[in-house]
Amino acid sequence: MRILYVASEAVPFAKTGGLADVVGALPKFIRQLRNEVVVLIPKYRGVTSSKILLPSLTISLGNSLKFCSIHEAEPVDDVRFFLVDYPDYYDREELYRHIGKDYPDNAERFALLSLAVLEFAKRAPLPPQIIHCNDWQTALVPVYLKTLYRKDSFFEKTRTLLTIHNLAYQGVFPRSVMSRLGLPSDLYTTELMEFYGNINLLKAGIVFADKLSTVSQKYSEEIRTPEFGCGLEGVLRNRSADLTGILNGVDYTQWNPEQDPWLVANYSAEDLRGKEQCKSDLLDQFGIQNSRDRPLIGIISRMADQKGFDLLQAVAGTMVQEGFSMVVLGTGEERYTRFFLSLQQQYPAFVGAKISYDEWLAHKIEGGADLFLMPSRFEPCGLNQIYSLKYGTVPVVRATGGLDDTIQDYSKSPNGTGFKFDAYSPDELLAAARRALEVYRTPARWKELIRNGMKKDFSWYRSAQQYVELYREVVDPTEHPRVEASSAKSTY
Ligand code: ADP
Repeated sequence: MRILYVASEAVPFAKTGGLADVVGALPKFIRQLRNEVVVLIPKYRGVTSSKILLPSLTISLGNSLKFCSIHEAEPVDDVRFFLVDYPDYYDREELYRHIGKDYPDNAERFALLSLAVLEFAKRAPLPPQIIHCNDWQTALVPVYLKTLYRKDSFFEKTRTLLTIHNLAYQGVFPRSVMSRLGLPSDLYTTELMEFYGNINLLKAGIVFADKLSTVSQKYSEEIRTPEFGCGLEGVLRNRSADLTGILNGVDYTQWNPEQDPWLVANYSAEDLRGKEQCKSDLLDQFGIQNSRDRPLIGIISRMADQKGFDLLQAVAGTMVQEGFSMVVLGTGEERYTRFFLSLQQQYPAFVGAKISYDEWLAHKIEGGADLFLMPSRFEPCGLNQIYSLKYGTVPVVRATGGLDDTIQDYSKSPNGTGFKFDAYSPDELLAAARRALEVYRTPARWKELIRNGMKKDFSWYRSAQQYVELYREVVDPTEHPRVEASSAKSTY
């Protein structure tokens, strides 16, 4: 099949969160399953291209014409990445917001991206059968396809899949921007894109996409309930028949303690000695006391309400007093960054906090910590708990979304891989941490637990197969005679 994969960020070009990891990795695995896939993202500041594919692409956005160009970047693992260049919109300090405030023209910026997707598709050597969209920034693709482009025979057989990576971000804008985005005013109804007096781009995408997916089975069920649906549970329930959950995978070429260049020592499930060196190195990095008796908790996270740090606020002091040390890496809301910095001040021998975004240190934390804490209120998939498994860093997680799907509780089964708690309460978090501490103090059991996790395989291969199955379900069967491996060749 021919797939055009579109998103607002991708590793190694631009990243704010897990979405970029997915966009940087999944297409490669879809390609390995003998499909053609190319990726299109914006050309943000600092993203370099190797050539210009389309020097001038005129996009009609509402009442104005925008003159973009399409560049091509160096391929990543043989996958071709195309870039929409429109410096007015994308050549900025950051991707979506600056100094704590969303860019005021985000609606126009990502409407332009969605229209550029369609214009690019028409000029690609072969028409894509599937346009795979991700999150609100590209959710207008199916909307434009079924409105402005409805009569365009080029797209007659094009189908769309919209993957929701986090329902909390929906792209909600004032009604007044509709005309600037060229959206017909009759879309402004409760059934389509109206949302409490505003317009909601993700909602519109959910209504118009041919298929929907999200990034874990559990989250795909949760988002149909008022607790997790962020106001879209009704629309999602209406689309239940077309909504699936496919767990994100991990790129083990990037996240593998056996060959991670950022660790002071590499290690494997068979020989864990290097992990002790990694722990000493990590403690040194943060300048905190090195004691084998104290299990070291690692945290790498956006500091946002979603991540559950208000639970930790209530019990962190007790945890340190009961024998835990903690290292924290993250950026985000000040109430949480301030909390971690003051915890560090209070317990300088046992707590270290760095308020920054640091890929290198993230690897060191995965390698050197004993436990990894994710007490999330909700978590569509979560990646760090999956990396942690491979690094023998035992996850302590709240049983929600992808955290629930990927971690089994060791207290309930000797095959377990971590510790889970259900209710969103500080006491439950503390109880799970205490269960972990007890096992930590029995080295034979701790080793068994570590190895259970390290044996798990969450590589992209299986997820990619599930996406391909989904594509097969939605494309017109007469449009894609299955090709044998030997005759599959790249046409993009
Ligand atoms: P989310 O997408 O909600 O932020 P995920 O767990 O899905 O959460 O993905 C987060 C990704 O961002 C992971 O790859 C994680 O290692 C990385 N990350 C988050 N914060 C930082 C940070 N401060 N420094 C380095 N990497 C970070």
